[in-house]
Amino acid sequence: MKTVNNTVDTPFYCYSMEIMVKRYRALREALKSQRATIYYAVKANPNLAVIKTFANEGSGADVVSIGELHRCLAAGIPTNKIVFAGVGKTRAEIAEALSVGIYQLNVESEPELQVINEIAMSLGVKANIGLRVNPDVDAKTHAKITTGLKENKFGVDLIRAPSIFKIAKSLENISLKSLSVHIGSQLLDLEPYRAAYTKVAEMTLHLRSLGFQIDHLDLGGGIGIPYQGEISPDLNSFSDIIQGTVGDLECELSFEPGRYLVGESGILVTRVIYVKKGRGKKFIIVDGAMNDLIRPTLYDGHHDIVPVQQFDQDTKPYLCDVVGPICESGDYLAQNRMLPKLEENDLLAVKSVGAYGAAMSSTYNSRPLIPEILINGDSFSVIRRRQTVQENMGLETIPKWLIDE
Ligand SMILES: *Cc1c(COP(=O)(O)O)cnc(C)c1O
Repeated sequence: MKTVNNTVDTPFYCYSMEIMVKRYRALREALKSQRATIYYAVKANPNLAVIKTFANEGSGADVVSIGELHRCLAAGIPTNKIVFAGVGKTRAEIAEALSVGIYQLNVESEPELQVINEIAMSLGVKANIGLRVNPDVDAKTHAKITTGLKENKFGVDLIRAPSIFKIAKSLENISLKSLSVHIGSQLLDLEPYRAAYTKVAEMTLHLRSLGFQIDHLDLGGGIGIPYQGEISPDLNSFSDIIQGTVGDLECELSFEPGRYLVGESGILVTRVIYVKKGRGKKFIIVDGAMNDLIRPTLYDGHHDIVPVQQFDQDTKPYLCDVVGPICESGDYLAQNRMLPKLEENDLLAVKSVGAYGAAMSSTYNSRPLIPEILINGDSFSVIRRRQTVQENMGLETIPKWLIDE
């Protein structure tokens, strides 16, 4: 830690490559009895070095924008191992994805299906499509990351699947032989998976009875991680659920984990600027803020925070809020935590921020994007340097009419 601290200023993200690889291999191992491919959900952490880590393990990638597609190509994910998901793919994005020749596009509406057919026709290709269905299953997770309820915008109602398969059959440049489902993120309970996969299996049999071919099921991501001592889902039980629900359908299976693969690999290192006494608690004002890590305020996300320096066991802890310098009451990394007596310049590590941390950061308050570091054994590499203030302003211009002669 010392070397890193000596060369990179706070705040910064720091990831362990070892943990990412370990998680990937554990999932790979748990799924080895299934005909399964893992597609890393790039949105969880789109850094090129992170994608490359999974590419080297043989992973595919699940992308939700053309930007993510280009990251995958730059990081060496083979085009035939890329799946494109999302409710609002634009015509330009679809055209590019089809030209590049990715494995599959997951379609979320009938108009999208028509547009893909049109574009595929103009390019003279056949588009490999999966239909994302909404199984109306409660993933029992935070409201902002549940996606499989009928009131959510995602997928098409399961009961509409047959009519969409019928339309797809009439479209010359569409090949639809796959169902896809993703019910939400940070699932700690496996039962919602069982419920969703059971519905997908029933629909697969129903579609087959109607004469449609289905040879592929995309079973989504969402596996949760412990943020405050929760027990993460047992991968072997997950595998048993898969076997028990879709195991006899002889389909190829896809999984798209994001958070599970990268979440626990990352910390955010931040430095104490001031310690301010409030009523009944202290405010630890640090140099990291909600623009760097928005999970606490957006999702009520809990991240354990520990001092980087070791404290004596018997150091008396104090009730604290760990807050950033941004002018928003929502700018906190943690509230009501017991932390030892901290002073200016002490370093804190905010834990389990490898997923949806740097990925969701912004430059609010004109705070430049912060560095990301990848640790590999004894060595480390800066995999994203800090943005400069000049770069942060660089896209902007002042119109001539505002400038005096
Ligand atoms: C976000 C997303 C994932 C990954 O979710 P995690 O909870 O990070 O595993 C997988 N599939 C789709 C379609 C997604 O939108």
